Amino acid sequence: MLSSGVMRLMKDSFGRTIDYLRVSITDRCNLRCIYCMPPEGVDWMPHDDVIRFEEIIRICRIMAVMGIRNIKVTGGEPLARRGAADLVRGVKALPGIEKVTMTTNGVLLGEYLDALIDAGLDAVNISLDSMDEDNFNRITRKENPGQILFAINRARDLGLPIKINCVPLRGVNEGDITKLAGLAKNSNIAVRFIELMPLGTAVALRPVPADEVMALLEGEYGSLSPSAAKLGNGPAVYYTLPGFEGHIGFISALSHGFCESCNRLRLTAAGFLKPCLSGDMGLDLRSLLRSGVSDKGIEKAIAELVSRKPAHHSFGGTQDRPDHSQKEMFRIGG
Ligand code: SAM
Ligand code: SF4
Repeated sequence: MLSSGVMRLMKDSFGRTIDYLRVSITDRCNLRCIYCMPPEGVDWMPHDDVIRFEEIIRICRIMAVMGIRNIKVTGGEPLARRGAADLVRGVKALPGIEKVTMTTNGVLLGEYLDALIDAGLDAVNISLDSMDEDNFNRITRKENPGQILFAINRARDLGLPIKINCVPLRGVNEGDITKLAGLAKNSNIAVRFIELMPLGTAVALRPVPADEVMALLEGEYGSLSPSAAKLGNGPAVYYTLPGFEGHIGFISALSHGFCESCNRLRLTAAGFLKPCLSGDMGLDLRSLLRSGVSDKGIEKAIAELVSRKPAHHSFGGTQDRPDHSQKEMFRIGG
């Protein structure tokens, strides 16, 4: 237990250490990215069904005792939920929690940056699929990238570690990849290319494989060299480019499976704890909490779920039913 000074480790039945929890705090979003949401949006969850901040804090407290060290606040768009910075502060204050980070589309980041840094946010991941106004609009169906680029610059100037996430899409933003990677040239920023995962609206789109992205980058900037840098808690593999201050990362769930080293659990905005991004398996923590179960009872249920964490994701397998309400990315949180 933490109180006795001994940090507990949480292991699944394959010996993987589980120390990372992604928490989706809302299913709502101010963008409609073509690989994530339909153009008309979706029916947002009723207010009472969304996990409350005090419930999230309780879950994180219990899980910190069990071995969770790092928390990622995500969504939907986390900054679309009022009080997101207060949640960051509350989670950061929990004994055992080392890092609290956030994944955001960046639209509201400029507005909340000072509050987030003051609350103790350790780093930010910002999704940006194009710096070209037309293409950005084509992908997000809203806004323009100007305010996101402003927020990136400000976050950098304030010393907040930044990762940029781009999902390369065939026939959509292939032409924007080298320019996006250029953000890592003169700044210590990691630009990561995430392979499209076949969930929800993404099934109608085609990814650009990582090998092709690499070839594009090498054609523009020279050879990619593997980097030993450990940047964060995730499955990204990092490289450097000649003369680049920052890094280039690749997250390739399908073509270069990352399950062997999976260290994470996901809490959806409905309070459903998922041991794997794919599949229906999970634990309805919201109902458990609201039914008055003790911390010990919740810990037991989480431990039982972790013992059933699958060895591999099942994208394309029989577990994937496209109509399952906890399966869209904006509900799971990426
Ligand atoms: N709204 C925030 C954002 O966009 O960063 C946080 C939530 S979003 C669901 C988290 C991450 O999931 C984003 O980087 C987004 O690009 C990624 N994502 C969404 N749908 C995806 C898909 N089908 N395949 C791969 N990545 C996806
Ligand atoms: Fe919103 Fe993020 Fe999904 Fe885009 S990827 S629609 S920003 S939740």
